[in-house]
Amino acid sequence: MILKNPYDSHVHWLWTGEMQSVLSLHSLEAVEDLKTLSVHKDHYRGEWLFGFGWDQNKFSNKKFPTNADLDEVFPDIPVLFTRADGHAIWVNSVGLQRANIFASTVSVPGGEIIKDPNGNPTGILIDLACEMVQKYLPKPGPSEIENYLIKGMELFNQSGITHIRDLSCDERQWNVEESLDRNGRMTVAVEQFFDAFQPTQFSEALRLAKFARDQKSKNIRVKGIKVFYDGAIGSEGAFLSQPYLTRPHHSGLKLLDQKILKEMIIETWKNKFEIAIHVIGDQAAEDVVKSVTELKKQGHVGKLNLEHGELLNTETIHLMKALDVSCHIQPSHWLTDKHWLSQKIGDLSRLAFPWRKLEEENIQFDFGSDSPIEMPNFLRTIEAINDAEENNIPRPQKEVLSYHQHPDCDWVKNCYCVIEDGIVKETIFGGKIISNKG
Ligand SMILES: [Zn+2]
Repeated sequence: MILKNPYDSHVHWLWTGEMQSVLSLHSLEAVEDLKTLSVHKDHYRGEWLFGFGWDQNKFSNKKFPTNADLDEVFPDIPVLFTRADGHAIWVNSVGLQRANIFASTVSVPGGEIIKDPNGNPTGILIDLACEMVQKYLPKPGPSEIENYLIKGMELFNQSGITHIRDLSCDERQWNVEESLDRNGRMTVAVEQFFDAFQPTQFSEALRLAKFARDQKSKNIRVKGIKVFYDGAIGSEGAFLSQPYLTRPHHSGLKLLDQKILKEMIIETWKNKFEIAIHVIGDQAAEDVVKSVTELKKQGHVGKLNLEHGELLNTETIHLMKALDVSCHIQPSHWLTDKHWLSQKIGDLSRLAFPWRKLEEENIQFDFGSDSPIEMPNFLRTIEAINDAEENNIPRPQKEVLSYHQHPDCDWVKNCYCVIEDGIVKETIFGGKIISNKG
């Protein structure tokens, strides 16, 4: 079959390329497996060893690992390992020292430095606290950024994708991608958002978005600003309406004050941009949708994008009907989360992956992968929808892959991929073959 304008509606483009050259931790099934990792010089960022992909839910006790576990294997160098969901980091003792994280250190708002009963940091930092360590890693230069962006495009193309919606960008990335486009080196069409992970980064993101829009890049459309309202379920940062079963009295993290959120939305819309808001927990989605409903009543208009929307309650979905809103859902998260979802959130899991309800209520949504959190492979979406259906999550009535297609056929003409026997055989971008598996 042929799929026109194959689209991944939620990716991190630069990170997708970069994660192919960091130490992969996806195979860790116990902290003892750290000894089996084969570390290569490319895995370093300056002096720091940098890895990605651990998940404590694969460990037998399902508990967060500690700095002491890392110290046994890496006693002398600073180590930063990012969790599989990108919302928590695991740091060894040298790393904590380098970042000045001690028993007395208090987390920034919207984050958490996990501490043991004696008050010492355990090496795990969640959501906005991650930046307290990440800022010590050297940032990639322009040639590394170019390399990552090209690797990212190659991976998307091999997966059959010609259109992406990229949810993270800063000035350094923008400068490189704009020059790639000017020099005719793009093999994907990009909808670009500029992210403010920390609320303090908002005005810079907005300034940059305006600057980028003025450059009128052919294959890159500057769409708006991305902010974070909560974290992720796997690291217990998604903001829920009731506490996690695995962590009493803890309902997740709220990363933004609602008043500040509203000001950001108004500013974004005033500048004719869309706002994209990371919401995973049901309470996060409810807060955001209620805030936007109030703004609408006050006469503010603009487009709202809910990123993930993994848990949506009936009232939230009902309120969304009156708004200009679109949800960007990653079915493949089901395949990862299903192993522990009900153990963590109990009966709230009945609200999970609400594609059928959104469809029934005529609320716009599309599918993506959150690459590199999941592989950018839309065939995995089909697998996830089938598997979810077997677990009583009704499938959408429309064809699954229709939610993986970019609607604008006039942007870059002649984009499609050829799928045979469940494999992407060929990808065509602007009439040119950009990936061919023979
Ligand atoms: Zn994401």
